[in-house]
Amino acid sequence: MRRLEGKIAVVTGAASGIGRGTALLFAEEGAKLTLIDLQAEKLEETAAEVRKLGAECRTVCGDVSKPETIEEAVSLTVREFGGVDVVFNNAGIMPSEKIIVDVTDDEWDRVLDVNLKSMFLMCRRVIPEMLKRGGGSIINTSSVMAHLTEPGYTAYTASKAGILGLTREIAVTYAEQGIRCNAIAPGWVDTEMNRRLAADLGGMDKLYPIIKKQQPLGRMISTRDC
Ligand code: NAD
Repeated sequence: MRRLEGKIAVVTGAASGIGRGTALLFAEEGAKLTLIDLQAEKLEETAAEVRKLGAECRTVCGDVSKPETIEEAVSLTVREFGGVDVVFNNAGIMPSEKIIVDVTDDEWDRVLDVNLKSMFLMCRRVIPEMLKRGGGSIINTSSVMAHLTEPGYTAYTASKAGILGLTREIAVTYAEQGIRCNAIAPGWVDTEMNRRLAADLGGMDKLYPIIKKQQPLGRMISTRDC
C-alpha cells in the first residue's frame, strides 16, 4: 500500500527544487496532484514527470500570493478530483537582501506576500474543503533561517519565523477536527534558489562558510534527503 494512495494533494512551487522533488515523491506514493508555480514551462516538465509515474495531475500557472491563483487551484482540484486531503505550501523566494536599514517597503512586502501571506490564503481557502472530508494535512515550508539566521536576510527570516506561528495557530485550532498542520524547516538544500544565491555572492566558495555554520554536515543535501 502506497502512503498516499487515493489522496488528493496540492503542491506549490512545484516547478523547481523541493516542490518538484516532493511532487515526484507524492506521485510515487499514489497521490493525485495539482501543481502550482509561476514558471509555466518548468511546471509542465514536472507535471510530465509526475504523469510518467502514473499519477493524475493538473497544473495552475500563477502567483501564490494572489487570492485568484489559490481560488483557481483549489476549485480546479475539488472539481476534478473531488476534494483536497494534503497541501504542501512550499513556494518561496529568498532575494539577495540587505540589512534592515536598506530594505525598501516593496522588497519587504514581496517577500512577506510570497512566503507567508500565500500560506494564509491557501489555508483559509482549503481548510473548509478538508473539513468536508473529515480532515487533512497541511505542510508549510519554513527554514533553518527561522531559527539561525545571518545578517542581511531581514524579510526572509521574518517570513520564515512567521510561518511557524501561523502553523502552530492552525494546528491548535483544528486539531480536534482532524486537520494536522506542520512546518518543515529545511537546512541547506541543493536547489536553484541556492545556486542563484551563490552566484550573487560571487560563487559557491562564498556560500559554503555560511552553510557550514548552520549545517554541521558542511554541504547541501538533495531534495530527496529533504
Ligand atoms: P526554488 O527556487 O528551486 O523553487 C521555488 C519554486 O517556487 C520555483 O519554482 C518558483 O518559480 C516558485 N515560486 C516562487 N515564487 C512564486 C510565486 N509567487 N508563486 C508561485 N510560485 C512561486 O527553491 P527551493 O530551494 O526549492 O525552495 C522551496 C522552499 O523551500 C522555499 O519556501 C524556500 O524558502 C524553502 N527553503 C529552501 C531551502 C534551501 O536550502 N533550498 C532551505 C530552507 C527552506
